Amino acid sequence: MNKVKCLIIGSGPAGYTAAIYASRANLQPVLIEGPQLGGQLTTTTEVENFPGYPDGVEPFRMMDDMKRQAERFGTKYVSGIVTKVDFSVSPKKVWVEDTEEYEADAVIIATGASAKYLGIESERTYKGRGVSACATCDGFFYRKKTVAVVGGGDTACEEANYLAGLCEKVYMIVRKPYLRASEIMQQRVLNNPKIEVLFEHNTVQLTGEGKVQGADLVYRKGEPDEAMKHIAIDGFFLAIGHHPNTELFKDFVNRDAEGYILVDGDSPKTNVPGVFAAGDCADPHYRQAIVAAGSGAKAAIEADKYIKSL
Ligand code: NDP
Repeated sequence: MNKVKCLIIGSGPAGYTAAIYASRANLQPVLIEGPQLGGQLTTTTEVENFPGYPDGVEPFRMMDDMKRQAERFGTKYVSGIVTKVDFSVSPKKVWVEDTEEYEADAVIIATGASAKYLGIESERTYKGRGVSACATCDGFFYRKKTVAVVGGGDTACEEANYLAGLCEKVYMIVRKPYLRASEIMQQRVLNNPKIEVLFEHNTVQLTGEGKVQGADLVYRKGEPDEAMKHIAIDGFFLAIGHHPNTELFKDFVNRDAEGYILVDGDSPKTNVPGVFAAGDCADPHYRQAIVAAGSGAKAAIEADKYIKSL
């Protein structure tokens, strides 16, 4: 059994920033890196909107910079996946790979969220080579090109509008005969001459030589008027929702209907004293690295206060 003051779960911008602050507060944090070292950001090709990198930065380098920055002040890293927690006791208990047990005065959950994918084979083939789940992150690479956005909710409409500001043309691939998004978002999409909404279409596969160059769609699958359609595209953006990686904590920490951890207003405090949440696992709205980093800092500051109060 390992006893620590502050345990951080997750190695995205929220986790690493929490580690920088916690280690500089002399909490000697241990950070469990989880299944995706560096977090969601590492699924993109280049980061251009994180302050401090005027020429852009390769995501793995940026995350490695953060990691080394926290290491410099004493953060210890554990590679592995948290498989079980018990927040009903104090100190809190956390198990890595079921075997290694940690006891921590404070825990910072920074497990992020994962974009939902359709589950078709070619999405994996072209991941990072035309397939993206974040228009704000990757849209810039498709200036004056043609892209498709999948989904009919507010995120899809927002992303389609954003991309229409950069791209030559934007298709929206919507499986229903209507958009689910709020009225105002629908109107923006429907009134944008650069956006063509393909209702009742589903993606069958992506095509292209080494990168996305097209998509095969099916119209009204299973109906008498079912038809195939091919569109030429350079980018394929998923906007069919995200799911926060919070299942593990559900018996202890309050979450909303979608699974996002509920925090106390503007602070990273959860309903469990000494357990804090930072980054996308508690943020259904912004989902940006810089926002996650800011909330990681807040979580470490609150963890420090909590530990000093014990
Ligand atoms: P939503 O769950 O609202 O919408 C997901 C969309 O993706 C739906 O159109 C859904 O289709 C479609 N979809 C899901 N699975 C598939 C699939 N396998 N194949 C094809 N299409 C699929 O998610 P959002 O991320 O859009 O929004 C999440 C929440 O955040 C919502 O409450 C939303 O209102 C809010 N939000 C608000 C914003 C704002 O106010 N500015 C901006 C962004 C989000 P179907 O309709 O058929 O189920």
